Amino acid sequence: MNVIDLTAEFVSYNTVSNLSNAKCSAAMAKRMREAGLSVERLQYADPNGVTKVCLVGKKGKGKGGLAMMGHNDVVPAEGWAWDPFKLTKKKGLLYGRGSADMKGSVACMIATAERFNARDLKQPIYVVVTSDEEINCGGAAWVHKHSKTLKGCKYGIIGEPTMLDVVYAHKGSFKIDARAKGLATHSSTGKGTNANHLMIPFLNEVLKLGEKLKTDRRYTDKTFTPPYSPFNIVWTEGNTASNITAENSAALVNTRPIPGHDWEPVKKLIREMAKKYGVKAKISDSLTPLNTPIDSRIVSEALSVTGKRKPKTVSYGTDGMIFGKSMELVVLGPGNIKQAHTIDEWIEPDQLKKGVDIFAQMVIRFCIEDPA
Ligand SMILES: [Zn+2]
Repeated sequence: MNVIDLTAEFVSYNTVSNLSNAKCSAAMAKRMREAGLSVERLQYADPNGVTKVCLVGKKGKGKGGLAMMGHNDVVPAEGWAWDPFKLTKKKGLLYGRGSADMKGSVACMIATAERFNARDLKQPIYVVVTSDEEINCGGAAWVHKHSKTLKGCKYGIIGEPTMLDVVYAHKGSFKIDARAKGLATHSSTGKGTNANHLMIPFLNEVLKLGEKLKTDRRYTDKTFTPPYSPFNIVWTEGNTASNITAENSAALVNTRPIPGHDWEPVKKLIREMAKKYGVKAKISDSLTPLNTPIDSRIVSEALSVTGKRKPKTVSYGTDGMIFGKSMELVVLGPGNIKQAHTIDEWIEPDQLKKGVDIFAQMVIRFCIEDPA
């Protein structure tokens, strides 16, 4: 299998996260079967009722082994100078939405699996493809809960773009869903309650707290860039005509917790602030930071295979926020995260070729030479 042809095929499906990825997953499943993998198909409806399909491919018998994991949803592609869903070669670079994040990497995984004969594998190879990674890792959560095939696999590679550097830890994510209820009247009457006026002082305290935590040693870590967990606030409800008191106000606050920190006291503080201002705050935190022990076998083998001296941390999240709960993982994949999510995203063909070589060496270590 040619990894560039596979990338072109997968990029040709528009799988922006709000759309169904079913057709793209069907194409990937077909290629997995051609590469000798058996495929478990896991389907669910997302919160908007859109069909999403995840895949767990397996080659070789028994448990243990090594999983190569990716997603096939992509971020929106507006403002491109050419068709974002047609892999286009220009000046030696391959342009297309998802080329770096991360259909190119999934192509590497399938091409890697094809190289091996099931008879030679002492432990199995898995190729995992999820959906909704760009939104909330909903596909990973579904696979983690429902896949029968993946159970018992302890080691994995999340193939997000790291320029084939080894990443052992990344930040998590939690969200505060804040809502306030007012009473709508004509503002001239002085009788209404503007829900935004309840929300603003609450958010102001949350912002101040976020600023304070930036220099609090319990919530900072110099191995990350930035070394703190930034707060980000967006309004989701509350706009109306300026002469009407807003009946509803809603905002989301997102932050990116650094691994190893205890955020429970912060959450408690936020809940208390919400109560004080008459705001309802729901805190969701299923996305835990990835924090693979630096002496884990997956880290040392990945360093040895890539020839890197030290593993790194990154500030973006991956499906590792879900799979890290039961597996030891590294983030390791072709392409540059700087190209992900940009207009005119690209990947170097050489990264794809190297990606296959590195994944294949990891398979040799974990599934043939010294099974996990
Ligand atoms: Zn990604």
